This record gives sequence, C-alpha cells and structure tokens, in this order.
Amino acid sequence: MAGESARNGGAAGQQTVRRHNLALVLGEIAGGEPVSRAGVAARTGLTRGTVSSLVEELLAAGLVTELAAARGTPGRPASPLQLNRSGPAGLGIEIGVDHVSACVVDLSGAVRARRTVASDHRDDVPSAGLATATALAGEVTAEAGLPVAGATVALPGVVGADGVLERAPNLPRWVDVAVGDELGVRLDGLPVRAGNEADLAALAELRTGGPADAVYVSGGIGVGAGILLGGALFRGAGGRAGEIGHVVVEPDGPACSCGGRGCLETAAGLEALLRAAGTPDVDALLAARPGPPLARAGRALGVALAGAVNLLDVPSVVLGGIYPRCGEPLIDAVRTELAARVVSRPAVDVRFSALGPDAALLGAATAVVHDLLARP
Ligand SMILES: [Zn+2]
Repeated sequence: MAGESARNGGAAGQQTVRRHNLALVLGEIAGGEPVSRAGVAARTGLTRGTVSSLVEELLAAGLVTELAAARGTPGRPASPLQLNRSGPAGLGIEIGVDHVSACVVDLSGAVRARRTVASDHRDDVPSAGLATATALAGEVTAEAGLPVAGATVALPGVVGADGVLERAPNLPRWVDVAVGDELGVRLDGLPVRAGNEADLAALAELRTGGPADAVYVSGGIGVGAGILLGGALFRGAGGRAGEIGHVVVEPDGPACSCGGRGCLETAAGLEALLRAAGTPDVDALLAARPGPPLARAGRALGVALAGAVNLLDVPSVVLGGIYPRCGEPLIDAVRTELAARVVSRPAVDVRFSALGPDAALLGAATAVVHDLLARP
C-alpha cells in the first residue's frame, strides 16, 4: 500500500510540474511576437523535446496556432507560434445601475464584439436585468463567432467571495442575488463569475500597464474603488473592500442611498453632480463642464482619498468611470486636497484612467482569458 500511495504521489507531482510548464510555455507564446519552439525552449530553459510535447497539447486545446514557416531559411523551417485568436474567448457582462453591456475578447485580449443598452434597474426586480444581460450576451457571442470559455459579470455593489451580490445601495431590490449562478443557468451552463465593477476596472487598469499599488475610483451613479497592492487586488477579509462611495465626507450631509448621511457618493456621484450643475443628464453635464460643481466633487473625492492613502500608503490614485470626462476642475481639486491632507507620503500621483467607461466590462472579459492563460 505504501508503494501504491508513493506512486500516486509521484504521478500527481508530475502532473503539477506539467501544468506549471504548460503555463510557462503558454506565457512565452502570449508574450508578444510569434516565437518558435526553439525560442520558447531557450527562454524557459526547458528541453526542446519537452517544449514540443507541451506545444502539441496547447495546439490540440486550440490555445495556440502555428504560422506558416518562414521561407528561405536553411534546414528544417521553424513554424512560429502565437495565441490562437480563433480559440477560446472570454465574455464580459456589466450590469450597471442604468445600463447593461456585454463584450467578447479573444485570447490576445482584443475586443471582438461589444454592445450596450439602456436598462434602468433602480426600481426593477433582478429577473428583468438578468434577462436583458442574457439576451445581450447571446448577441455579442453570436457576433464574435468564437467559442466562449466562460464569463465574468461586473456588478455595482457588494459582491462576496462566493460571487453573490449581497447589497447594491442603488439597486434596492437586488439583495443576496447569486448573479453568476443565475446567468450561468440562463447561458446554458457557461461558467460565470461575479465581481464588483470597480475591482474589475482596477484589474483592467493594472493589466494595461497601470500602477501596481493604487486606489482606482470608478465614478458613476455609484462610486466604488478597487484597491491594488503589490500588483494584486486587495479584497478585504470577505471580498468586500473598496466601498469608498460610502466613506463619510460630511457627517451631517445629505441622505445617501445606503441609509447613512454625507457619504462620498452624495457629493461626487453622478446624481449629485447633475443636481449641483443643474443639468439633466451626463451628456449635458460633460458638455457644460461647470467648474464650481466639479471642483466641489473633486474636493470631496480628495478628502476621502486622502484617508485611503494615509491608511494604505499607496503612491497612485486613478480616477475612472465618468471622472476622466470631467477634466481639470475635478482632478485639480483632488490633487489640492491630497497635497494638503496626506501625511504618509511626500507625493501622490493622481491620473485619469485611459480605459474610459468600459474599464469594468473589459476587466470582466479579460479576467476569463487571464485565467485560461494562467491555468491552461
Ligand atoms: Zn452611503
């Protein structure tokens, strides 16, 4: 029996090594320019025989593809390898407070189909929003024409580690909804994970070259944050960290959707901005870009962010969602408050996200591809 269990342990160990090497080889192929088997062997330190065998497995799984061999080279021509852009794809879904979006990205992370529809969920039961999301997911999947391997759904509220949307102050009827599981059933058993929209946007920012230690703030009707520490998302003890929209900036301030008073969202959320600016919608607000209301929102953001930076010692703040379109009046006020209030660091870099309002959606879709490449 001892021999039997030792043999099993050895087989399991070999399996672990093989999986590790598979991810290593795939990582080299995913790195950029097409690369030959010999090139992969040289860069990974694996033997050419091992690399060839692992590449066969990746070809069979549809994760990589072989380009035509370069002509005119002496000896046996090397066929360069690259990620298979017709291979398994990631589906991203975003259920926002007043919209639903969906997109498909291929293995290289390129967006192959994207759609968004207005869909207000503030007074609605979850099933209506879930039906809209299911329909939109079906449309982008058909348009992309790629085999979708899984999906992630971005949500505007508190998502527990088990993927349940526990609470979304702006969606009072969405309480303890297993959004991932529900969508998985509606999408014929597709694996669907759920995450907070600001967390997924922060990961998208990180994967496109953003700072490894930062507070990413996503501004919209709600205001959320994704906290990045050491190149990884800081989730808190239960996966719920980052509710910066409900950090109090004015204890006796206006009532907030969460039941509290004077939360950041009541000063820097989209609805507060529209009220202060006297504009009917986001397009009118951003066309007018009224200085004083945007500066007031920026000041409140700066006060809340100074608290976060003093607690976490992060060197960077990234402002996303609608904030990049608010321009100088907003970011200047954030910088002024941080310069005046942060004691933990000499300076904080404050920048607008370059990803635009789709950051959470892209983060959701690329999370699927990222997992496929990390664990082939
Ligand atoms: Zn609140």
